[in-house]
Amino acid sequence: MLAVLLLDYSLYVWHVLTHRVPLLWRFHLVHHVDLDMDASTALRFHLGELLLSVPWRAAQIGLIGVSWRVYAIWQALLMLSILFHHSNFRLPLRVEGYLNRLIVTPRMHGIHHSIASDEVNSNWSSGLSFWDRLHGTLRLDVPFVLYISILFERR
Ligand SMILES: [Zn+2]
Repeated sequence: MLAVLLLDYSLYVWHVLTHRVPLLWRFHLVHHVDLDMDASTALRFHLGELLLSVPWRAAQIGLIGVSWRVYAIWQALLMLSILFHHSNFRLPLRVEGYLNRLIVTPRMHGIHHSIASDEVNSNWSSGLSFWDRLHGTLRLDVPFVLYISILFERR
């Protein structure tokens, strides 16, 4: 359980780095240019970002000391989470509110994919939303109407 938490946290750190380090951002930007987010967005990454993430992932596994079984479980949970929070599900706000206390939701991650820089630099978590709460990077205060209008403006 601790290994899964540490894998999730170190992925949060990696995601922050992909936004803060100019070389990494050049590759990660490709994931953010998709203006019509849906579950397929979760799979669209530049090959350069994927290659640069390999040493990071190896360090995650080596330093945390993760067994292959635990790693496989985390990878499966991560894939489900990423497909879910990139999806275009429009959940009722109340449901979003309950879910994003624990996990990353589509609206929460949609704010991260905003074109507004202060919104892009928030909501970096990929599994548990706790990491954004811990670091003060959680943004949920984008009015729903504004959020929807931003999505339509981007089309
Ligand atoms: Zn990002």
